[in-house]
This record gives sequence, C-alpha cells and structure tokens, in this order.
Amino acid sequence: MIGMQNLPQFKNPKNVRMRASVLLEPFGHGGPAVLIDTSPDFRRQALQFFPQKNPRLDAILITHTHADHIHGLDDIRPFNFYQKQTLPLYAEPHYLEQIEIKFSYIFMPTQEGGGKPKLGLHPVEKEAFFLTECADPLLHKIKITPLPLIHGGISCMGYRLRNIAYLTDCSYISDETIAKMKGLDLLILDCLRPKPHTTHLHVDLALDYARRIGAKKTVFTHMSHELEYETFKKSLPRGMVPAFDGMKFRFE
Ligand SMILES: [Zn+2]
Ligand SMILES: [Zn+2]
Repeated sequence: MIGMQNLPQFKNPKNVRMRASVLLEPFGHGGPAVLIDTSPDFRRQALQFFPQKNPRLDAILITHTHADHIHGLDDIRPFNFYQKQTLPLYAEPHYLEQIEIKFSYIFMPTQEGGGKPKLGLHPVEKEAFFLTECADPLLHKIKITPLPLIHGGISCMGYRLRNIAYLTDCSYISDETIAKMKGLDLLILDCLRPKPHTTHLHVDLALDYARRIGAKKTVFTHMSHELEYETFKKSLPRGMVPAFDGMKFRFE
C-alpha cells in the first residue's frame, strides 16, 4: 500500500506537518514555558522539541476548542507529575466550559489510575493579564494580551507576549485587534490554502493582514498540503515565510 508519506512533496521534511501550536519561553530555552494549544500531536511535539534535560511546562493558553487544538490535553500529565504542580490553563469562559465537557473525567472525582491532568481553569477576557497563577514567580510579571479573532461563526483567541503574536484559526481580524499588534518582531499567522475558505485565512487575505499588521517578520502556519513549503516560500515577499515543524526563533 502506498501511504501519503510516499508522495513526492513529503520527501522534504518541511512538508510533513503536525498540528499547529507554539511554545514560548520568555526567559530562554529551558526556562519557564508557556504553551499555546495542546494539539493532538502534543505528546510527540513535547518529546521532539522540548529540552531533553528537565523539560517543563508552566502555563497553557487555549485559542479555541476545535479538536486539532486541544485533543492532546491529557498528555500534560507528566509535567504535573514531575513539577508537582497544578497547571494554569487560560481560555475564553465559553471555551473553559467546553473543556469541562470534553474532558469531564479530569474534573470528576473518578479513579486516578495513571493520573489525570491537574488543571486550574482561568477565564480570558478582552483585557491584558499577567500569568500570576503560575507556580514560578518569574512568570508573574509576564503580560499576555488577548487578541480576539473571528473563526467563521465562532471566536478564536490570539495572544501577544512581548513582541510576538500568535494568531491561528481566523477568517477576520478586527481593526481593534490589529491596533493591539503595534511594534511586533514576530507575527505567526493563519494561512490555510490558496483558495478562499469560510473559517480560515487564505494566502491573499493572510498577506493582506500581514502587511497591515506590519511585523518585522511574519510566519504563516496551519497550512494545508496544498501549500508546498519551497514553492510557497519562493512566492512570498521579504520578511514573510512559511512555518515548519520545530521552527525556532530567539530574541534578545
Ligand atoms: Zn479551528
Ligand atoms: Zn485549527
């Protein structure tokens, strides 16, 4: 049987994509870590991309509760176990309710077996907030700016930490949200495919928003396989690139 992995475009590992998510380490690699979305690939992503020595996780920000963004939530258990901490999880109030339904066993006094995730749920409203619920006091001074987005008929939350903004899964970005992204060094932006889509940005629209937001560098993410890495990269203007699994950026 010929699997998808044998198709010519997958010869380039940059075209083999796990689900979208990002890890922010405000004090450098190996320090306190803030994860945006627990994708169904989270376990593999953690094994592959987290520091080999003393990997850690300190907070989780959720953009929305589509399966491709939260279905790896159960795999945060090792971090609870090794760090002996409850992890704060931040999301819009209606998405916290969704998490309590989809992962009801976490919040019920059922048997523990191999352990259940230990989560503290914290609502994200429109206003910026600090990660004061984290066990590590270093993170208490880290400010997160929520960036409300429209994802077809539902909401999705983008997040800004210092000079970086992560905006996945959106079809419309309001002027109010754009105004919160002045002076970005890095924008990570949804860009699903060449043709328009009802719930995601397509290439032309993503480029349009990227220009309006005006980050020093824009990285496109959540791409379908209609966007071949090298071809897409060559088509993009200066300062804009497609993402690939394991892509890293470092800021002083
Ligand atoms: Zn979605
Ligand atoms: Zn998605």
